[in-house]
Parts: sequence; structure tokens; C-alpha cells
Amino acid sequence: MEKEKILIVDDSVLQATQLKSILDDDYDIDIAQTAEDGLHYASTENYSLILLDVIMPGMDGFTLLKKLQEEIITQSVPVILITSLSDIQDEQRGLMLGAVDYITKPFHPLIVKARVNTHIKLYRYRKQVEQQSMTDQLTGIANRRRYERYSIIKWQEATRLQVPFSICMFDIDNFKIYNDTFGHPAGDKVISAIAKTLTLRLRRTTDFVARYGGEEFVAIIIGGNSQSTFGHIKKVRQEIEKLHIPHASEVGKWVTVSVGGVTVIPKSDDDYSAFLKIADSMLYDAKRFGRNQVVWCDNKMRLWQEKPNNKNTQSGTKQ
Ligand code: GH3
Ligand code: MG
Ligand code: MG
Repeated sequence: MEKEKILIVDDSVLQATQLKSILDDDYDIDIAQTAEDGLHYASTENYSLILLDVIMPGMDGFTLLKKLQEEIITQSVPVILITSLSDIQDEQRGLMLGAVDYITKPFHPLIVKARVNTHIKLYRYRKQVEQQSMTDQLTGIANRRRYERYSIIKWQEATRLQVPFSICMFDIDNFKIYNDTFGHPAGDKVISAIAKTLTLRLRRTTDFVARYGGEEFVAIIIGGNSQSTFGHIKKVRQEIEKLHIPHASEVGKWVTVSVGGVTVIPKSDDDYSAFLKIADSMLYDAKRFGRNQVVWCDNKMRLWQEKPNNKNTQSGTKQ
């Protein structure tokens, strides 16, 4: 099993290396010598625990603790304060601010190990419960709750880094009729099969797929322009059609999905929910234009349509 990662934030090299040597066998340790570096490390790496010195030049431990609690990525990582015996008031303040525990100098290796092990165990358990609560029972993929969290984080990241961000909504076509014809358990199998195809085809580390609700899925794709993302999603849609799951004969041969999406490079005052609405209206258009197709747009409202001849009269359409 991979070792859990711990970050030590301490301006004293001696103290930090002492702690590191106590924990080195069991954990993967990084050291930051300033609070600024600590904040940077904490928001870019996945730590299971942070050991934080209270007194540091520049930004002190309390300020860093507050900042860690404000960031959605770092706020759940437990923080143990490093204090000296004379800093009782500091300890109280730190615990009030949300630190989970404190260890005092000089270090007793066994006590340090015991406290760290306890908090790592608690964190692991909490993560596991959280993981379960973020997973869709039927399909095993991310659920709506996980999507809500993920989308905020990635939207902020894309805004900061100025990279293209795509939101994409999938909806199974005429699924009510499918259920009415083949029964709900068969419908459940279809939902699972489509979830599987989506995760297989959107498997880059920057791709994300979740079950949005009943027979709807949402994907977030980072990077790639509108044209290329539209092209890729078109293939994904075709892939689902090629599963060749028989549909009720009155609506079509196979089970299909309609897809709507939008690609933007988000600006700092852009509103995520407005873009989600655009993706939703693209999906609505895909249904309106005859289902089983992808409709896409960018922030300039340029439109890409998979089947432009299908009941569509809009201009400015691209293939
Ligand atoms: P459209 O092409 O316009 O999307 O038509 P539709 O019938 O798919 O859309 P509608 O929203 O009318 O119906 C969605 C159906 O999806 C109704 C519901 O029974 C079914 N559904 C939603 N969640 C589940 C689920 O978890 N399992 C199964 N088997 N069916 C579900
Ligand atoms: Mg629906
Ligand atoms: Mg549907």
C-alpha cells in the first residue's frame, strides 16, 4: 500500500528533520519552511495530515491554519500544531481555529507517532465514508454530490489557470418507454452499461463523469477546444449507440443518448451555473433536433451540431 503523505510546515530545519526522522518509516514526508510554501504544497499535493509550527517569521501558523480552512481542497486535511510547553494559550487558540491536536516540544517519539497514527486513521476512515457517500450505488461512478464539489474546484482551477473547461450533459432517449417496455430492472442495466462506456471513453486524469440524476449523466472535461471536445463526445455518443442495446421498436432500433455541451475559458466573474444552463439548453436542442446527437457551443455562442440537417433551420452551424 502506498504510504500516506504528511506535510511538515516549520521554519526550523532542525525541528522539521527531527519530526521527519520520527515518522519517516511509516509515512511519506514533505517539509515546507515557510507558511507560504506550506499553503502552496497543501493545495497542490494530497496530504493526509499537516504538522504545523505556530511561531514562524512572516505568515504564522494561525494565519496558515485559517487559510487552509478556507480552501475547499485543504479544509478537510487534519492539522496538528507544534507548540512548546509554554504556549498553552496558543494551543487553545489553535484548537479553537480547528486544529485537531497539538504536540509539544521537546518531542517524545512514541507520543508523536501515536498521535499522528490516530489522526491518520481517523482521516482515512472519514475519507472512506465520504467516498461512499459520493458514489452512485447503481453504477459505481461519482454521484451528484461528488459532481457538485468537483465542479466548483475545477471551475476555480480553470479560471485561475485559464484553460478550457467543458460541461457536458447526457440524457438517455425515450427512456420512459424503455422502462415501460422492458421493466425497471432492465432499465437499471442500461444505465449501468452507459455509465461504463462513459467512464471508459472519458478516462484522462482531467476527465470526470458523474450520474447527474435518473437517466442523466454529466461530464467535465479540462483542456481541448470546443471543436476537439465536441469531436470526442460525438465518438462517445456513437459508442453508446454501438452497444446495440435493443430499444422499444416504436422509438428506434437501439438505445441512444442526446448530448449537450459547452466549452469556455472561464473569466473570474463568470458564473458556473450560467454555463451549466447553457449545456442544459444544448441538450434540450439535441432532443428537439431529433435526439441521438450532440449539440455543442462555445462562449461566443458558436454552435456545433452533429446532425445539422435534422429538423434544424439555425444558421452558423458547423459540422
Ligand atoms: P427523452 O428522450 O425526452 O429524454 O425522454 P425520456 O423518456 O428519457 O425522458 P423522461 O424524463 O420523460 O423519462 C425519464 C425516465 O427515466 C423516467 C424514469 O422512469 C426513468 N428513470 C429515471 N431513473 C431511473 C433509474 O434509476 N432506473 C430506471 N430503470 N429508470 C429510471
Ligand atoms: Mg431526463
Ligand atoms: Mg431521457
